[in-house]
This record gives sequence, structure tokens and C-alpha cells, in this order.
Amino acid sequence: MPHTLFISDLHLGSEHQDSMAAFMRFIHAHAPHAERIYILGDLFDFWAGDDDISDSFHARVIAALAGLQHHQTELFIMHGNRDLLMGTALAAACHAKLIGEPTLIDLYGTPTLLSHGDTLCTDDVEYQAFRKRVHDGKFQRDFLTQPLAARKAYIQQLRKDSDTAKRNKRMEIMDVNLDAVAELLRHNHYPRLIHGHTHRPARHEHIVDGKTCERWVLGDWGEQGNALRCDANGCAMIRF
Ligand code: MN
Repeated sequence: MPHTLFISDLHLGSEHQDSMAAFMRFIHAHAPHAERIYILGDLFDFWAGDDDISDSFHARVIAALAGLQHHQTELFIMHGNRDLLMGTALAAACHAKLIGEPTLIDLYGTPTLLSHGDTLCTDDVEYQAFRKRVHDGKFQRDFLTQPLAARKAYIQQLRKDSDTAKRNKRMEIMDVNLDAVAELLRHNHYPRLIHGHTHRPARHEHIVDGKTCERWVLGDWGEQGNALRCDANGCAMIRF
């Protein structure tokens, strides 16, 4: 049956062998059968800039994704918070289209809104301030003029700081804010919503202005990979 797969939060990196093994299982066993694949952010654990394409680990990931063109599988990539610097050179190398945050699609007749999910975590005021700063065009252009090694060192330090900050944050703060979810659904005429980021895979229902909206949260990848498979009859989580 024609279907589409959604994945996010793979956090691929050369030091994470488990998620890379799950990614390769996905590429061989699942991806070739899908009409379309949407990667909703955090494909990579970090992305310091498109000049890091030739890194040997990155080259393996890119070759695996680019190979999907031979199966007529269309590939779409959205930025996450970890890989927000993915650019057009990376997308071209993967034979993928970069899509904006958020993106509304027609999924076999059901309007479906795609998001990474971090914009919905509005209770984390500190994170939202950081997000605003690093999404600024001038900040990104200036950052990308620095040498690759310096950018990588800066990102490693950021990650350490963020891990420390997360340990001191209450769990609820790092989940989506339900008012932010309702506002996004209202603004987009009450679609189905699919997002990742929070690493809390689940199916939720929200009643907004009397309309019932389905919200699917994608899981992160470790030893197991996971995806949301959607066809004309609806969506279901798969693990591999
Ligand atoms: Mn994320």
C-alpha cells in the first residue's frame, strides 16, 4: 500500500554505533518501500556546516540517503535544533528537499502539519531565547565564517552546557506546552500534527475549538529505530 514514513531524532554521530546500525536497517528494510520519507529534524547529533559533508561518517549517511532515489523514494529534510545549520549543499548531496518549520502537507487526503517540535516547548523560556539567537540569519552567517574545527569545538561546549542545564530543569518544562499546540493547530485549520524533539513517542488527541486533532510524537533512536508509517487508513508506529 502506498505509504509515507516519518522519522526524527536519530542523532547520528560517529560515536553512536547503535543509532547508525538502526539507520542502516531502516535504509535497507523500510525506506525503499515508502513513497516519501520525511526526516523531521535532528538527523545528525550536530551539524557544523555543509563543508563537513566529506567527513567519512557523514559521507556514509549521505550515500545511504542518496541511494533511495533508485527506489523512487522522495526524501524531505527539516531542521532540528541539533542540525539547524544543514544547508542546500547537504540536501543536494542527499537528493533531498529541505522543508521549512512548520510544513503543512496533504497526507493521503488528511491535512498534516509537520514540525520538529522545539518551538512548542514554550515553557522552556531559556531555550526559546537561545533558539531565537541561533536562528538569526546574521548570527549563522558569522558563525559559518569561522573555521570548521572552531565551530565543532563551540558546538561541543554548547552541548555540555545544555546537558548541565537539562539536569536542572523539571521534566514538564521540556515537554510541549498544550496552549502552544492548540494555537498552532488553530492557526493551521486543525490538521493532524506530527513532530519529534521531546523523545516521548505517543499518540495524543487534542480538542481545539470543538475539533479533534491527532498529534503523533516521534521517538528518538538508540539500539532501536522507530518511524511513523502513514497511509490512507491512518498512522502507526513501527520499530526495527
Ligand atoms: Mn531536537
